[in-house]
Amino acid sequence: MIFKQLFEPDSCTYTYLIGCSETGEAALIDPVLETAERDLSVLNSLGLKLTHTIDTHIHADHLSAAKRLKSLAGSMICYPAMDELQCADMGLQEGVPLKLGSIEIHPLFTPGHTNHHHAYLINTPVTSRLFTGDAMLIDGVGRTDFQSGDSATLYKTIQQKFFTLPDDTLVHPGHDYEGRWVSSIAQEKARNEHIGGGKTLDQFIEIMNNLNLPYPRKIDFAVPGNELCGECPGNVPEEFRGACARHDQG
Ligand code: FE
Repeated sequence: MIFKQLFEPDSCTYTYLIGCSETGEAALIDPVLETAERDLSVLNSLGLKLTHTIDTHIHADHLSAAKRLKSLAGSMICYPAMDELQCADMGLQEGVPLKLGSIEIHPLFTPGHTNHHHAYLINTPVTSRLFTGDAMLIDGVGRTDFQSGDSATLYKTIQQKFFTLPDDTLVHPGHDYEGRWVSSIAQEKARNEHIGGGKTLDQFIEIMNNLNLPYPRKIDFAVPGNELCGECPGNVPEEFRGACARHDQG
């Protein structure tokens, strides 16, 4: 399996490139509109063809590159089936792996950050990699105060779907704001400030209720845009329109 971790600095989003070395097929998990062309050139340099884009959830902090990459590379747009997006080519659900050449990508239903959030698990003979989206970050978790988020639900998700995985499973988060790239289930179980160290449900809810986070600066255009798989809606403010302008020009 070919693996590469890519970063979009404005939203501190990680995009993950997964490629099958046997067939040359590749997927991008959570691609960002601003870095669509950069990601395609990385794929090209590796001799891979983008066949799928896979989103973990309807993002509120950036516009997805799903639609743009489909128009540039012909990739299939994959979203959690529960989102019922008209613009998606394929709905993903737990129990139904997505085949990418010889690689199997296993969707896990992981609500709490949003009500339809999915994480993705890939097991190979040498590693297991968990792409947690915003359900769990390194030393933190995704916020639960928007998009039908719910702290008790997120606690259950992490305890039941993530902390039951083998300790050496690599944890690849949807974001990191401090330059950290990868963690493991063992490390998050032990050290995650919000839920690690054996925190109880009540302790977790107390922590989540007191995060005092600012209003998400892109949510008002990112959510409606991502419900259209990454179209730029009319209300994108001037400062964020750069990638939209490229998009509009085709
Ligand atoms: Fe999110």
